[in-house]
Amino acid sequence: MKSSRLLIEHQCPQCGAPATLEETDHLFVCGFCKVKSFLQSRDFFRYVLPHKAPKGKSLVYLPYWRFKGCLFSCVSGGIRQKIVDVSHQGIGSRSFPVSLGLRSQTLKLRFVSPETEGHFLNPSLSYSEVLDLVERRFSASLPKPVFAQTFVGETLSQIYAPFYIEDKVYDAVLNRPVSSAAGEDVQHDHLPGGRPEWRIQFLPALCPHCGWDLDGQRDSLALNCKNCNSLWMAGKKGFTKVRFGAMQEDGTEVMYLPFYRIKAAVTGIGLDSYADLIQVANLPKVVQEEWKNRDFRFWSPAFKVRPLDLLRFARNLTLAQPENDFAPAFPEGEIYPVTLSIQEAVESLKINLASFVKPQRILFPKLQDIHIKARSFVLIYVPFHRRGNELSQPAFRLRLNKNLLNYARHL
Ligand SMILES: [Zn+2]
Ligand SMILES: [Zn+2]
Repeated sequence: MKSSRLLIEHQCPQCGAPATLEETDHLFVCGFCKVKSFLQSRDFFRYVLPHKAPKGKSLVYLPYWRFKGCLFSCVSGGIRQKIVDVSHQGIGSRSFPVSLGLRSQTLKLRFVSPETEGHFLNPSLSYSEVLDLVERRFSASLPKPVFAQTFVGETLSQIYAPFYIEDKVYDAVLNRPVSSAAGEDVQHDHLPGGRPEWRIQFLPALCPHCGWDLDGQRDSLALNCKNCNSLWMAGKKGFTKVRFGAMQEDGTEVMYLPFYRIKAAVTGIGLDSYADLIQVANLPKVVQEEWKNRDFRFWSPAFKVRPLDLLRFARNLTLAQPENDFAPAFPEGEIYPVTLSIQEAVESLKINLASFVKPQRILFPKLQDIHIKARSFVLIYVPFHRRGNELSQPAFRLRLNKNLLNYARHL
């Protein structure tokens, strides 16, 4: 399982000090002025590869879509997963390389800004069109039919690569021609684009409720305020408060991992109550009357983890349906950061469902008619016992190696 990590050259918005960020970073703490800010975009991050072209060349920046994530596919026989880490040209022109190749892994990127000089081409292939292409490519080797399929944990971004056009199209990073002759389609006037209007936004990492510094790690998607005991996630309009709770446990060798507990409306299969779950998952239990009134909820990890573990963790907790009342306070002890967004957890719900329905032979063909609409969620911290590199949660029969958890952080 190989996975690329992008590095981004950046300047502190407050004092201008240089810094290097990782693609997975969200909380930026300036090493010089110590100001904390949360990196934010209304959709996705846009980067530019620095050019090395000779002076006087007029540069054309070509957009590449980049994804990283896991493609889950339900086929007869079970759920297959595949790590996907690709870039794909966003204008569908034969005059330019179809993917970025290794360029983005050997050079530091920068965030796009309106000050970046050059002609930035408008992508003509939308994200979902490219996603379809990637899905088709990665599905080619799967047994048919594919009953359900979804990308989870995806990093989606746009990377602009510089070129200049003369008799041929030249790569402005390597200063080498990439085509034998410049085609009709690459004449400047034919390529719609202009100056980029996008820039990265910085939210001051301050509690909207009480004004205290919010805490988190560099790749945290949720920040906490220890002063007023609140949890925040960045949305389109700044930070919004998140309902949370913890299964508090005594002892020092405890680490808390965050999970989403999601209430969803499921159509196409009866799954409203715990009693329904017993039936759908064919659990060896006799349904008790009161279980018909106990709401069913999905559980999903709120942290990046290897695809197989993601499914196992989601399934075990969903099947267990922990029903405790959770104290709305941060647990004492080490808390693992939220590194998987609620959107991604919601996207994985159908695969989550597929991982426990029984029998698969009968229920997989029904997956395409099952629709799941998330209504609300709560973030729950679940205690894991720490022994050496091993984390375990006996009640839900979960076990995890800390090194693998660290590795998955960059997925
Ligand atoms: Zn600074
Ligand atoms: Zn606060």
